[in-house]
Amino acid sequence: MVPSQHPPRFPDMPAFEAGWVWLVGAGPGDPGLLTLLAHHALGQADVVVYDALVDDDILNLANPDAELIYAGKRGGKPSPKQPDISDRLVSLALAGNRVLRLKGGDPFVFGRGGEEALTLVAAGVPFRVVPGITAGVGGLAYAGIPATHRETNHSVAFITGHMAGGEVPDGIDWAALASGGQALVIYMALKHLEAIAGFLVEGGLAPSTPVAVVSRAATKHQWVLETVLGDAAGDVEASGIEAPAIVAVGEIVRMRAGLDWLGAIEGRTLDPDPLGQTSQRKTG
Ligand code: SAH
Repeated sequence: MVPSQHPPRFPDMPAFEAGWVWLVGAGPGDPGLLTLLAHHALGQADVVVYDALVDDDILNLANPDAELIYAGKRGGKPSPKQPDISDRLVSLALAGNRVLRLKGGDPFVFGRGGEEALTLVAAGVPFRVVPGITAGVGGLAYAGIPATHRETNHSVAFITGHMAGGEVPDGIDWAALASGGQALVIYMALKHLEAIAGFLVEGGLAPSTPVAVVSRAATKHQWVLETVLGDAAGDVEASGIEAPAIVAVGEIVRMRAGLDWLGAIEGRTLDPDPLGQTSQRKTG
């Protein structure tokens, strides 16, 4: 056995060079879910351009000399337009800064990371992408919901519940999503939940299909609402649960009865057979 080292030796990290932009995912909230590369970048950056979804506990890990620039969007308040943010990244990099663009979750999952990176490409600014744990996977895991489970689903769809302009996306084939037997993980779903649930039921999903709404997942304020498709919009309204929230639709939600590990820490008794299938389970 190799003796363990204390402190443990981390792998060599690439140098964060002046004039570069690192497009980094911060994960869903818990600073412990940052990657080693994200942590390294926070310590090195001259400027951190961050989103509304990035937790203060994570920003506190930035080098104290780093300039922190807020570039998020908050409902109802004026917010920087996307081209402004991308242009800002370019000018900060051209001025010789090490620019950390920090985004909630993963930068390439409903995060416009691709758009920002293409602006960098057009301007000839070198960049690196550091993936993060997306809310639709890590946030659900903090609610005890697996994205896939052999007995419930063989595929999962990541869906956006609204478009840049705020309307329900019209390019989505809700009927196809409803019919595939897949788990649905919907980002930005709260505003249009009633319409979305309606499309899914029209598309063939039973109104009794399990739904979980996970608000502020993986933060100290995590709040999980369990409901069913037919009641989801009304229950969200009545409960006052707020964005950011991720919505899971499908049998995976039932796994929470067995896998709500955070709840178990607080005394919840977990059910080792959440699907009630022990007798039917295949062996091997
Ligand atoms: N790039 C991000 C997604 C940005 S879109 C990622 O990979 O996670 C913004 C949406 O992400 C929110 O409306 C919400 O649906 C979801 N989201 C992000 N962080 C979340 C969190 N901590 N808890 C619940 N939902 C979250």
